[in-house]
Amino acid sequence: MFSEIFSDGIIGRAINENLIDIHIHNIRDFSNDKHLSVDDFPYGGGPGMLMKPEPVFNAVNKIKNDYQIGNTSPIILTSPQGDKLTHNIALHFSEFDEMIIICGRYEGFDERIRQNLATHEISLGDFVLSGGEIPAMAIVDSISRLIPNVLGSDESARNDSFYENFLQFPQYTRPENFQGMTVPKILLSGNHQDIEKWRKTESIRKTLERRPDLINFNQLNEEEKEIYYQILDENSKELE
Ligand code: SAH
Repeated sequence: MFSEIFSDGIIGRAINENLIDIHIHNIRDFSNDKHLSVDDFPYGGGPGMLMKPEPVFNAVNKIKNDYQIGNTSPIILTSPQGDKLTHNIALHFSEFDEMIIICGRYEGFDERIRQNLATHEISLGDFVLSGGEIPAMAIVDSISRLIPNVLGSDESARNDSFYENFLQFPQYTRPENFQGMTVPKILLSGNHQDIEKWRKTESIRKTLERRPDLINFNQLNEEEKEIYYQILDENSKELE
């Protein structure tokens, strides 16, 4: 599952350039019993199986030892019960040199893994997937993009949504006129200052419309506050 995703594109290039390093481990290799089982029935009954504590604790301890991972490094449990992955969480994780991500299967984990092994629980969103692999890929991808030099200068994360607590401004590519739908004139003007201003305005407009929760007014600079008031003004005029 992982090799396809991690050998291609931005992540593949980052690995080739030694900017990041990823090791995949099979939890079965850390099972103590002869059937290599990693799951067992829940105490108290109920459907499905749970990930047993031994193989997961064994895996994390061996990996910490083998790769000399310090005790302050995150051990992330993928879980629908965790904190939802956000730009700020990815940014926080991008500051660590190493981390371990644990993928669940079946009905999830024995609670002792959650309480005594994991340092963080991260969810991809309020839905349940069949395994932690896709969340792990999303965590790795979102963190990697924020590590210096992983994105080339032409694809910098600075303009991306969430980077400055705004959604990204609308983007257009050729053709200039597609079936009568045209590109805003200002983007063709060549006036970089005007384009910057337009982008900032549209970015704030979109964020106000869709995700006002992202905007922390006190963190806006003077220019952004001015744009913010101008948009509120336009919106209230529209209502009149
Ligand atoms: N019974 C569990 C869900 C188990 S799903 C519960 O209700 O909490 C099996 C595994 O898939 C989980 O252990 C977790 O590793 C992964 N998973 C499922 N949904 C996820 C989500 N939204 N975010 C992160 N990981 C998830």
